[in-house]
This record gives sequence, C-alpha cells and structure tokens, in this order.
Amino acid sequence: MEGRSEFDRWFGRARTLVLQPTTLCNLDCRYCYLPHRRLRSEMSPEVAQAVADSAAELADPGNPLDIVWHGGEPLALGRSKFTALLAPFEGLRQAGRIQHSVQTNATLIDDEWCDLLARYQVRVGVSIDGPAALNARRVDLRGQPAFARIVRGIRRLRDRGIRFSVIAVVGTEGMEWPEALLDFLADLGPHTVGLNVEEMEGVNDRQCGITRDQAERFWQRVLDWRRTHSGGPALRELERVTDYLHLARSGQRDEWCRHGLDPIPTVSVDGDVVLMSPELAGISDDAYGDFLAGNVRHQTIASMLAQAHRLRYVAEFMTGLSRCQAECEFFAFCRGAQAGNRYFEHGTFTATETDYCRLTRQALITALYTTTKKEIAA
Ligand code: SF4
Repeated sequence: MEGRSEFDRWFGRARTLVLQPTTLCNLDCRYCYLPHRRLRSEMSPEVAQAVADSAAELADPGNPLDIVWHGGEPLALGRSKFTALLAPFEGLRQAGRIQHSVQTNATLIDDEWCDLLARYQVRVGVSIDGPAALNARRVDLRGQPAFARIVRGIRRLRDRGIRFSVIAVVGTEGMEWPEALLDFLADLGPHTVGLNVEEMEGVNDRQCGITRDQAERFWQRVLDWRRTHSGGPALRELERVTDYLHLARSGQRDEWCRHGLDPIPTVSVDGDVVLMSPELAGISDDAYGDFLAGNVRHQTIASMLAQAHRLRYVAEFMTGLSRCQAECEFFAFCRGAQAGNRYFEHGTFTATETDYCRLTRQALITALYTTTKKEIAA
C-alpha cells in the first residue's frame, strides 16, 4: 500500500484524456516525436465507446474532463469518421461533463471542418512555429513547406469566428527572434500562445543545442514583449507563473498543489493506454516494455489508475519527483515537470533535471527574477 499512498500524494484525478484518432499525419515535421506517423491506423467507434464509458466514470460534474484529440493529425481521419468517434461522447458533452479539444496542424481546415468544430464546441489548438523562415522544419510528406496551408487554415478559423490557441516549437532560430515570433503569432489572432522550447522525445533524439543562458535571454525578451503588448493574446507560460505568484502572494501556495498532478491517460488507436506522458505511446524498450497500463476494451481507465503505482515507470517517476522536491530550488513552481523528458533524455524516470525543465521552467523563473531586479534598481 505504500506505493499507493505515494501515488495519491503526487497525483490527483485525471483531468485530461488524450486520444489518438489516427496515427497518420499529412506533415513530416523534422522534429516530430511520433514513431508511426506515416502509417494509417485508425481508432474504431468501439474503442471510442469504451473510452466514453471510462470518461463517464472519471468525469467530475463541476470540472468537465478534457478529451484531447491528438494524432497523428486528427483531421487526417476525415469528417465522417471523426464524427463517428465523437458520437459516444455526445451525452456526456451535452451534460457538460466533458469538453473536446483538438490539436491540429490546420492544413486541412475548411468550411465543413469549421461547421463540425463549431457543432461539437471543440476547442482548437493549432501548431505553427512562426513566420515562414521559423516554420521551415514543418514540411509535408514530399518535403514541401506547409506554412501557406497552415496560415490558410488559421484564416478560415478566424473568418468563421472559431476561437483558437497556437503552440509554437521554438528552436535555436526562434530563440534569437522572440519579438518577430510573438508579433507574427499575435497577428494570427489566437486567444493564447504557447511556446514549447524544442525537446528531445519519442523518435526525435536530436539534442536541441539551446543553452540555459540563451533560454534565459529569450524569456527576458518575451517578458519585455509582454510589457509593451498588454492587449495581445495570453502567453501560456507567463500565465502559469502569474497564477503561481498570485497564489503564493496571497498565502495560498498550497492551492497550487491541491489538485495533484494529472496522470494524463493517453489512449492509442487500438485502445492501449499509457500514463504520465502522451509521448510514451507507441514506444517500447527492454527495461520498461511498452509502458502500457492496460487496454480500454478490457479494463476501465479508473481501474488502470487504481493499479498505476505498480508500474515500474510510474514508481520511478515518483522517486524522481521526490528527488526534485528534496533537491531543486524551483520545485515549488515547477512541481516536477514532465515524465517523458526524463526518460527520453536520461533513459530513466528517476532523473531530475532535463533540458525541458532547464529551458522552460528554470530559465523562465530566473529571467523573471533578473527582469524584476533590474526594474527595482532603475
Ligand atoms: S526544475 Fe527540473 S529539477 Fe527542478 S523540480 Fe522541475 S523538473 Fe525537477
């Protein structure tokens, strides 16, 4: 039972289910972590029904469960098949117990997709890395730039009044041009911009080569940009720090931790479930096997979560979290970052620091500290 109480100490209820409707992607981004993105395997309505049954058990009436459709490229499934996967969730959605989100490259968005997204009130997140020069690694299967098609899809969303967020992967070039990057992304009209510093995960085993100093300067310039563009979109990473500081200042820092970490059950096309990091889906190795917690066709996700502490990688991740808590000065804000980054960088979940946490969590906090100190001194 010790493992169970440790699990309950770290993890709260699942607030997000990630679903892979298809393995296929119509793009071939140079940094993509998905191992099977050129293969067309699709989720069946039976698997979607099994996930909906599990979602009914997990959904908390006051806080709708986020059902995140994340491929491959989810829209590569086609509208009628996608509609068939949404059908089992309709009762839950209309009762306000779940909400749908989709993460898309936007290249396939047309008026018919806009109708579907609006009908099911799907929240839309678009992946775009910035203006054409910064987006050059996002190419189609023939190696041709996808930029114009992504922007066309975004314009269609905007013309139809569908709210969307954008997420940009920031590599070494983006690090040097944060203002141009943010000006461009803000002009697209999203409600939120997320900045993902490039990571080493899945089949992307290329170290990004960005240093902590570079990242700190990048975040300082992002903070400066925010100051002069207060009416622009929310910046996800800065919102997170602001929320944390607000709670810390009002003596409610425990509130930051109250819900526990989200175990993020991720369901593959065939119903297999991994926990902790969507990037572990479809990965296997000698030490950890295939990371599976179970399959939704045979077992509910709630029952998988009840046994999750027995999985080797989950137990190791909890050891890593305890080490972070004991050793790292950023822990109160960070809460241990992502399991997948530890594995893909170090081959073990007991590791602590990763490029992700250095470049996205630590560098952001130190940039904020440096900027604030400069302002006080001025
Ligand atoms: S910043 Fe890194 S080392 Fe520190 S708590 Fe977060 S994950 Fe752990």
